[in-house]
Order: sequence, then structure tokens, then C-alpha cells
Amino acid sequence: MEKHLLNWDGVIIPKLKKIAGEDNVLNHAIDLYIYSRDASIDVGMPAAVAFVNTTEEVADIVKLANEEGFSIIPRGAGSNVSGGVIPAKPDCLILVLARMNKVVDFDVENFLITVEPGIVCLDLNTYLEPYGFYFPPDPASDKTATIGGMINNNSGGIRALKYGVTEEWIMGLEVVLADGNVINIGNKAIKFVCGYDLVSLFVGSEGTLGIITKAMLKIQPLPAVRLVASGYFNSAFEAGKCVREIIKRGFDPSGTEILDYKTLKAVEEYSGTLKFPECGAVVLVELDGNRDDVEMRLDKLEVLFKEMGAIKSETARDLETCTQVWAARKAAFPALTLRRPTARMEDVSVPLKNLPAMFQEIDRVSEKNGIEIATFGHAGDGNLHPILLWDERDPDEHRRALQTLVDLWHAAIELEGTVTGEHGIGVSKLMMMPVEHQPKVLELKKKIKDAFDPKNILCPGHIIPIPGQRINILEDA
Ligand SMILES: Cc1cc2nc3c(=O)[nH]c(=O)nc-3n(C[C@H](O)[C@H](O)[C@H](O)COP(=O)(O)OP(=O)(O)OC[C@H]3O[C@@H](n4cnc5c(N)ncnc54)[C@H](O)[C@@H]3O)c2cc1C
Repeated sequence: MEKHLLNWDGVIIPKLKKIAGEDNVLNHAIDLYIYSRDASIDVGMPAAVAFVNTTEEVADIVKLANEEGFSIIPRGAGSNVSGGVIPAKPDCLILVLARMNKVVDFDVENFLITVEPGIVCLDLNTYLEPYGFYFPPDPASDKTATIGGMINNNSGGIRALKYGVTEEWIMGLEVVLADGNVINIGNKAIKFVCGYDLVSLFVGSEGTLGIITKAMLKIQPLPAVRLVASGYFNSAFEAGKCVREIIKRGFDPSGTEILDYKTLKAVEEYSGTLKFPECGAVVLVELDGNRDDVEMRLDKLEVLFKEMGAIKSETARDLETCTQVWAARKAAFPALTLRRPTARMEDVSVPLKNLPAMFQEIDRVSEKNGIEIATFGHAGDGNLHPILLWDERDPDEHRRALQTLVDLWHAAIELEGTVTGEHGIGVSKLMMMPVEHQPKVLELKKKIKDAFDPKNILCPGHIIPIPGQRINILEDA
């Protein structure tokens, strides 16, 4: 990356320290190295990192960016896997909102809670539990993901099939705009169609349109029980067919996940205690509601598993076993990262009918390029996580891995799907934007960005490339 053009040490850092506090601004090389990464494999060195505690500090820093000409990337926990907090140009500040993590208002009578963006998803649910409520969007990264990050990635998760993605649970936002002005949008009323829906526009905007400093969220009463059934199949293809049947027959699952054989083996090794039956893939199905109804559906599900050719099935009918099953599912990515030096999590998403075909495509591109892929994912909504495993220090293997990625993306689009179901574009998938969208659509997206951020202060080179940015990942391989 090019060198800094601005005077950070002499001008910008002292001014940032004045706004955020002496100890809340970092620009030591080691700190910058840490903040040059997220959970993707992309890397980009920022010029500085600042931690903020209030909306006023955020607004003042954005105004300073306008005066001095640097860019800003808002960051929550940095757990995104699309290079969403990776600078695409050097004069860039990473603005960490993780310390803004308070509950601002709990309007229990309206089933609403207003929070700062840095609150972690699991902490929010721990807060809500004694009141008998929860926030349904549940990425597998819920122990780290912040609400600000989830809103900006429009994160999905295990329960998206029944309860939808983050977007459906956001009622209002406080946003610091790219010029430093603060706006409040949305409404407490459930039905609200007063002009363009700006809240929805900010959701999924990956920090490119504004910085969220508060969010009003809808919450849901906790179900009486959540129980889990597991069906073991000879192949991921068969498991994919079973998922479609579960939905078609009206089981109304709150989660339907698939883990293939390689993922199960990695989770076994990672846990040191778990042991799964020999199989090609497992389907995990969560059912929620009152106990009698859920138990009845679980019994019927065991029959369906047999009918669909399962080699074995199990049901978890107590909280402890169900918690263990989901902990195993949530360990899938961390477990796989230990298998090879490089692991990249993808999130191709296809219509449900094409889910079995997507599994076949994953095998095909893996074999074609000689790159190992383990796959798990939220199969109930057609969103899979193929994990590519390789060693990026080996130039030949690295080139084949990048080719595998590109082949996977094209395969998902061919199957009427998308390159990203829930992780977003960031800097990782820019090259696929013109493949997925018509030129006129790209032009409209650029106009939206220009309307909100004419100086391109927020996350330049994310979602929409900047002049000279290298977006073709095969170019350097
Ligand atoms: C093990 C693992 C499992 C995962 N499982 C899932 C899953 O099941 N479903 C899923 O959807 N994702 C999943 N993810 C991806 C990731 O965790 C989520 O997208 C998460 O929501 C990111 O939250 P974060 O706080 O880490 O955000 P960050 O990574 O810090 O940021 C994400 C994006 O949001 C922007 N941003 C952050 N805060 C703000 C703010 N206040 N205002 C404006 N912009 C902001 C950033 O600029 C960036 O573009 C997983 C990741 C890992 C590593």
C-alpha cells in the first residue's frame, strides 16, 4: 500500500487524542499491525486506531476527518470475514466502537430495547433472559459480534430461517453521517411507511454510509423450549435434500444446519470429547415452542429422517444436551482453522431447490483445483459456509485456492444464488459486484454512496471500488 500523505504524528494524532483522550488513540506499529486484520484473510495497515465512548466523540472525529482529509473505518469486534474493517488506502483511521456497549433504554411494554452499537450479541441476550426475552438474530460468532457489526453486515445466523436476519429486528437508529451531523431515524410504531426507509438502507451498508451510535431493536419472548434433532446421512447431497423436505412438510424449524464429514472430524478433534457416528453429513434441526408440541414434532422428525435415508438419528430433549449440540456447531470454523495455515470462510447462498446441486459444485471445484473444502452452514435458508483450507505461503497452492474461490462464486450465481448470503462484500469480493449486478444497478449504488458520503470518508474502497484499486484476486496470484 502507498505511504501516508497526511501529517499523522504532528497534526492528526494530537487532535484525535484531544477528542478521544490520551490513552484512547494508538499508532504504535504493533497496534497498527493488530488492527490491520479481521477474521478474513485480507490485510491493510491503518494509520491510527481510536476508541470512542460517546456519540459526540464520534461526530467530532468525523468532522476532523473532513477537515484533515483522512478516512474512517468503523469497527466493532472485527469478526467479519469479508475484509470489512480492512483499509483500502493508507490514510485511514480505525474507529473502534466496542466500548460503547451500554443498554440505553428498555421499553419492555413495547418489546423494544435501545443499545449502543458495541454491545455483544450474547451479552445482550444474557441481559434480556431474566425478563423472558431475547434478540433472535444469532450469528455463530454471537460471543464476539457486536450489534453495530451485525447491523452493518445484516447478519444472519442459525435462526434466520424462522426469525429472519438482523434487518427485520431494527426499528430505529442514531447515525453519525459522513459530515459529522447526527440523525435519528425509524419509529417505535410497528407499522411505519413515512417516506423512504432509511433504516433499511443503513442495515447491511458495511459502514460505508454512516456510523451507527445507537440502535432500537425489537425483541421476542423466549420460547418455552428449544430442542434439537440430528440426522446422519451418507452424503451432504442427501442431507441437503432432507432439509428441503423438513421445510416443505411444515416442521417450522427455528434452525436447520448441515455439517459435512470433514467439519465433524475437525470438531471432534477440537473438542477432545465429542464423538460423532461415521457419516457423510449431519443435519441439525432446532424446534421451538411449547414442550408438548415440540416433542410431537421431534418424534415425527425422526420418522422423516428414516424415510429420507438417514443412517442414524438422535434427539436432544434436555437443555444441557441441546447447548452442547449448538456449542459443537459454533466451534466448526475455529476447529477447521487449525487444520491448515490458511482458512477462508465463504457464504454462498442459493435457492433451496438448488442446495443439493451447490454441494455437488463445492465437490467439483475442490477436485478441479486440488484444494480441500469443508462445508457447514445454515442449510435451511440455502446459505452454506464452504471453508477453503490451504497454505498461502505456497504460491502454487495459493493460486489454486484463489481460483477455487472464484469458481465457487460463479457456481453460486449460476445456481440463481449469490456470492454472499450474510458476510457482505467488504474488500474481499469486490470483483464479483459487476458479475452479480447490472451496470445500471452498480451506477445506482454508487449514487447512493455519493449522496451520503460525497468525500468518500467512510470505508473507501468497500462495496464500491476506488480508482486504481486492485479488485481481481487472481491478478496477483
Ligand atoms: C466464527 C465466526 C462465525 C460467524 N458466524 C456468522 C453467522 O452465523 N452469521 C453471520 O451473518 N455472520 C457470521 N460471522 C461473521 C461476523 O461475525 C458477523 O458478520 C458479525 O456480525 C460482525 O460483527 P463485528 O462486531 O465483529 O463487526 P466488525 O467485523 O467489526 O464490522 C463488520 C462491518 O460493520 C461495520 N461496522 C461495525 N460497527 C459499526 C458501526 N457502529 N457503525 C457503522 N459501521 C459499523 C464495519 O465497518 C464492517 O463493515 C461469523 C464470523 C466468525 C469469525
